[in-house]
Amino acid sequence: MAGPPIHGSYERRNAAPPAGRPRPRAARLVSCLGHRLATEGEGVRTMRGENRTGRRTAARAAFGALTALLMTVLAGFPATARAAATSPATATLAAATSVTASAHHQTVVSLTFDDGTAGQFAAGQAMHRYGVTGTFFIITGAVGAPNYMSLPELHQLAGYGDEIGAHTVSHLDLVATTAAEARRQACVSRDILTRWGFQVTSFAYPDGAASPQVEAIVQGCGYDTARIATGLAAPGCPGCALAETIPPADPFAVRTPGQVDSAMTLADLEQSVLRVQRAGGGWLPLVFHHVCPSACGVLSIRDATFTAFVRWLAGERSHGVAVRTVHQALGGPMRPTVAVPAVRPHGIVNASMAKDGAKAAVNLDMATPDRSGAPYCWMEGGYGQNKARWQRIRDAGHWAERLTVTGYSSGGAEFLQLFDLGECALPVRPGRPYELSASYRGTVTTQFAIYRRNAAGRWQYWTSSPYFPASSQWAKAGWRTPPVPAGTSALSYGLSAFANGTLITDGYHFGPAPAQTTQVTMTRLGLLAVLLLIAAAVVRWLIRRRARQPAGAPAGRQARDRPAWSSSSR
Ligand SMILES: [Zn+2]
Repeated sequence: MAGPPIHGSYERRNAAPPAGRPRPRAARLVSCLGHRLATEGEGVRTMRGENRTGRRTAARAAFGALTALLMTVLAGFPATARAAATSPATATLAAATSVTASAHHQTVVSLTFDDGTAGQFAAGQAMHRYGVTGTFFIITGAVGAPNYMSLPELHQLAGYGDEIGAHTVSHLDLVATTAAEARRQACVSRDILTRWGFQVTSFAYPDGAASPQVEAIVQGCGYDTARIATGLAAPGCPGCALAETIPPADPFAVRTPGQVDSAMTLADLEQSVLRVQRAGGGWLPLVFHHVCPSACGVLSIRDATFTAFVRWLAGERSHGVAVRTVHQALGGPMRPTVAVPAVRPHGIVNASMAKDGAKAAVNLDMATPDRSGAPYCWMEGGYGQNKARWQRIRDAGHWAERLTVTGYSSGGAEFLQLFDLGECALPVRPGRPYELSASYRGTVTTQFAIYRRNAAGRWQYWTSSPYFPASSQWAKAGWRTPPVPAGTSALSYGLSAFANGTLITDGYHFGPAPAQTTQVTMTRLGLLAVLLLIAAAVVRWLIRRRARQPAGAPAGRQARDRPAWSSSSR
């Protein structure tokens, strides 16, 4: 689909049409593209513009030749002879190699991938062909969503020896969110991946955004290490070190030279490795996002370029370059997962929209939403072909959100509770219906669009309400949902605009449907009333019957029995 990026996690395609009026649905979420593009110039720290004149030095070539000669000689020996390679005859060569190796620390490259996007699976297969492994940082809530890798694909990568690391559940900026939500995002994603069968010791911060507090939270979830997305030498970091150390000075802020982007060439990538090697070695973690057959956004690399780089890296093994996963590079124990308390049910947070949302630090990748400037606990959502603009405005002395849609040809736009783990999203119990409402005015017909979250944190379109007519005056839209489907842990809803025009909303309310309880009580009361009527009728019949009975005649079974019992007792 052309136009804005598709946010597959919020898939509305193939969803049940609302209230008998089908219309095509396809998903996108346009939360923060504008912000991302605006910050791109500042935030993307690449290795562009670095000195590309460096070539393999004569010394390096000589060392390579010597190593190759040694390998050839050793390969020609039988096992016993190789075991005796420490004999005086070969000791000199071995000593020479070891001296060279200690003078030049090994150069270790880690290929790391953020978000678990679909194209990374092909990248993993290409790496597998060359015996190279990498670390894939996964957003658990996106696994299996369109444009993301599926769970079987993740298992296949793990089978190749690749490392599966965590990248939160819903890709929230952990610095911009509360400590409780940051803890849930970091701990729950590790727990989900562990339950899926992966050994998870490494973490990568969404957008690379970390703070001492966030680092402590991530460490508390049992990870051994966490990666940021800057800190090593790049145009945006002129005075920075060329390579990370092993172990790193801060294992919860492992540095990288920015993020690989579409402007980087194969030569740029090769030079980034060679530069580290020339400077005496060290650890170079590289950050990749999309890997695509053709250009696919700023944070992407073409398949062909990536494969050529992997082939080159594999060839560099004999020149002292090792490619390792983050865990292979650092080691560290596999710690138990850490449970976090579930969120208690709550209504709409920041219903009045008075509280501003925290701005995300840098929003560079296009995976999932974050606080793009929407009010606290809210986010902007949309899908299909149209242009939507969200503005927080003052209306009659209250904050309200105005949505303006132009250039409409398909889909719609809405304003939703943030897709998180429960800080803002609405925790629910499966099987229960819920009541939702909001005030609105505007020039378009509207309806509630409702999304639900599953146990893995994945958000999907669930259902829509009937339509509410356009209203120039403030009007109230209210709806009772069907019982929440099994496996749902939270909802997010909003009034949707699906035509050119404006829609202003405010006064949101959400809670378990009391009507359901009332209905059950009414049913019970009705049954009780019927029973009472029957009982009254029976009593009346008995009284009438007794009244018609002639004096002295036996009156029913009890009257007949009583004398018999009385006589025997006498
Ligand atoms: Zn990411």
